[in-house]
Amino acid sequence: MKGFQFRHVTSIGDAIRAAVDTGGSYLAGGTNLVDLMKSSVVQPAALVDIRRIGLTSITATDAGGVVVEAGVTNSAIANHPLIRTQYPLLSQAILNGATTQLRNMATAGGNLLQRTRCPYFMEPSFAKCNKRTPGSGCAALHGFNREHAVFGASPHCVAIHPSDMAVALAVLDAVVHVEGPQGPRSIPIAEFFTLPGDTPDTDNTLLPAELIIGIELPPSPYAENSWYLKIRDRHSYAFALVSVAAGIGVTDGVVTAAALALGGVAAKPWRLTDAEQSLVGKPPGPSAFHAAAQLAMSGAQPLSQNAFKIDLARHGVVRALTLATTDRTSG
Ligand code: SF4
Repeated sequence: MKGFQFRHVTSIGDAIRAAVDTGGSYLAGGTNLVDLMKSSVVQPAALVDIRRIGLTSITATDAGGVVVEAGVTNSAIANHPLIRTQYPLLSQAILNGATTQLRNMATAGGNLLQRTRCPYFMEPSFAKCNKRTPGSGCAALHGFNREHAVFGASPHCVAIHPSDMAVALAVLDAVVHVEGPQGPRSIPIAEFFTLPGDTPDTDNTLLPAELIIGIELPPSPYAENSWYLKIRDRHSYAFALVSVAAGIGVTDGVVTAAALALGGVAAKPWRLTDAEQSLVGKPPGPSAFHAAAQLAMSGAQPLSQNAFKIDLARHGVVRALTLATTDRTSG
């Protein structure tokens, strides 16, 4: 591991100043960043340790939503009464990720900033990886790409984003609050992640030295009917081949609101707006769900090894919608 400066800070202002001064990275849970440093995938000049700032509360907003501060651990989010009752989809998504030990360390902000697990990115002995070394090529494009994108890829990168939490946040229309050298701003989750395009080394729209302060969840119409379905090679401690976050609002036997997003298929959570709109006004059930699933995967572009994801996602959408609308209060 290459040497680096280590700065402790105790305020948001000091953190931003330290990041500007050093050009370093923020350190919170460190569950992904430290691994990447150990294997020399990333080599920041400095780590700015933000763990003493606080940012560890979950509070209700006057608007009826919730703000999760960036330093709250994944375990604390998943188990918090406000999240379990108002946003069970988020709780379920987080509990499907990683292990208890990792969830106890990983933070809300860090979860959004974790890097792809593309094997060529994770192992510097592979020379071709535009995300790690811009301009070097993409080994996955014609190599091992079973786990890679079927939506939104470019010839320069076909990686996916690994977060489960982000897929639920997409369905919940979360807003990411940040502070940086130019002051505070709020980024809708739909605008937070970037597709690879010509700049696959960029994962998101954060500006240099911007620090995630919190994630705001607006009031949700999906507290009653939601589901996070994660399909993976083994039952635990594996990233999604495909995941589906589904929220559905039903009044008098008719769908009044629907939100769907896929994980494991793109460099960002992939909202399925056409499929969502197709559900509204229909009775929830197999006919509407299968029609939505067909729409969901139109436009998918598989690579040489991952066409199976299209069928997997289609079936996953039907199953997630079915489970979201299954009455679990009786029996
Ligand atoms: Fe690198 Fe992206 Fe290609 Fe993977 S898919 S090798 S992360 S450029």
